[in-house]
Amino acid sequence: MLLLFFIDGLGIGSRGPANPLDGLSGAEPLAHFRDEELTTIHDGVVVSTDPTLGVEGRPQSASGQTTILTGVNVPTRLGYHKQGFPNAAMLEILREHSIFLQLTQAGVTPVTFANTYTQRFFDERPRWVSATTAAVQAAGLQFRTVADLKDDRAVYQDFSNRFLIERGEEVSMRTPDQAAAVLARIVSENRFTLYEYFITDKIGHAQDFDAARTTLQALAYFIRELLNRVDLDQTSVILTSDHGNIEDLSSRNHTLNQVPTIVWGEQRTQIASRIRSLADITPAIVATLTKKAAANS
Ligand SMILES: [Zn+2]
Repeated sequence: MLLLFFIDGLGIGSRGPANPLDGLSGAEPLAHFRDEELTTIHDGVVVSTDPTLGVEGRPQSASGQTTILTGVNVPTRLGYHKQGFPNAAMLEILREHSIFLQLTQAGVTPVTFANTYTQRFFDERPRWVSATTAAVQAAGLQFRTVADLKDDRAVYQDFSNRFLIERGEEVSMRTPDQAAAVLARIVSENRFTLYEYFITDKIGHAQDFDAARTTLQALAYFIRELLNRVDLDQTSVILTSDHGNIEDLSSRNHTLNQVPTIVWGEQRTQIASRIRSLADITPAIVATLTKKAAANS
């Protein structure tokens, strides 16, 4: 089993007053600083990972996420970083190379996206979708719904459910450990699970220091609770990000910092050794899970 835990906008920054992770208690495994030793809990291997992918300019979400979810170096192939939602060229790359598609075609099933979609998504069928939505659609997977969430079979991107409640959904708040229990069960029931967390990038753009500290603490606690519940003898967990942002609140832009990729589980060393840039994440996952599929058959 393997979980890819994606965090939007988390880089490896310098210490100092602009970095909400500096001096923050309870920030493991998220607090990493430039020019310092990269270590973390549960023997996780931390890889300083290049999100710029050889292309000038600030790394952005659409191109970075498409790269993470396909293994195609999208900025190099297209010649630019792109923010927001994938354009036609990126959607084509996702349709052809989505990690979900690569795994199912290699016989690694079931695979799933753990996040919850609200009814509004199905009603409005938005023209612009995230890289993840396109990657899920490319493999013809089901989206998890609010009904699934109520049955403890889905997690919202804000795992506390607060945003859902504010939007009028009749769901209960979840503590980080409740949300971790739900996600850990989804992970145990699938060969590959993706979970995505976006609020870090939003807060980075808003340059809200207090919100950053509170959010990073809660997110770190959620991840620790998750790692306590996942069987790391049987499961690899990979945490990564598409670009830096929240680790430097002196600017409202994304940063040029490296991002932390953290790998836990028995195969952490082999997986980590394959990863240099965001383009290496999908190939490392596919190699790990297909090797296992071959060994089991
Ligand atoms: Zn952003």
